[in-house]
Amino acid sequence: MKTILKTENLTKIYKVGKVETHALRDVSLEVEQGEFVAVMGQSGCGKSTLLHLLGGLLSPTSGKIIIDGEDLSQVSDARRTDIRRRKIGFVFQRFNLFPTLTADGNLRLAERIHTGNGSGGSAENRREVLRLLKLEDKMHNKPLELSGGEQQRVALARAVINNPAIILADEPTGNLDTENSKIVLNMFRELNRRLNQTIIMITHNPDAAENCNRIVRMRDGKIVENG
Ligand code: ADP
Repeated sequence: MKTILKTENLTKIYKVGKVETHALRDVSLEVEQGEFVAVMGQSGCGKSTLLHLLGGLLSPTSGKIIIDGEDLSQVSDARRTDIRRRKIGFVFQRFNLFPTLTADGNLRLAERIHTGNGSGGSAENRREVLRLLKLEDKMHNKPLELSGGEQQRVALARAVINNPAIILADEPTGNLDTENSKIVLNMFRELNRRLNQTIIMITHNPDAAENCNRIVRMRDGKIVENG
């Protein structure tokens, strides 16, 4: 087994004026390649802060983050952006698709951003990912022509299209009804099983637990349960 992600004593303190909020306190976590981890806990316990740090969207106050052997905390902002682009796929609660582009167009854009030189990936690969997410017949639809569940599946397709080391998902079913939540959670499980895709997902959805290998529970900026 290969450790794909590791944090050591990760701490984040937000300062707003004179007020300090200790959002994360000494969080040490290891995730193996191919694991599907759910992060749960009450609002305000630090879940999003952890995810944003793991994805290089925020810098820690102290502590280490190692993604696929690269220490995020030691590198420049530019380098961190590069690691994020190459190694991380994000899925958000609000799907964040480009409304004027079709499903296929959204994937092509993600491919071009990933390569950084304007060249795209292969149509074959895009079709394969859309097939896995049961979206083949929606390739040419724009987001507004898709249901919420379908939009989230396109967002998921976009996150995996460049074969990232890790997918980070922030309440991906938060905007979906029960039925669509189930479908989207099953798709996460499919990607995890078929592609051995490593996934770390924040969720409030108790059904999500059934799809995951491990649940990390947080309280007051700390991990209080890990297994
Ligand atoms: P969760 O995702 O579990 O709801 P967050 O990571 O969003 O928790 O927040 C953890 C704590 O940090 C909360 O007390 C929140 O108010 C605070 N916080 C989050 N983001 C900021 C910010 N940008 N500036 C100041 N405080 C923040």
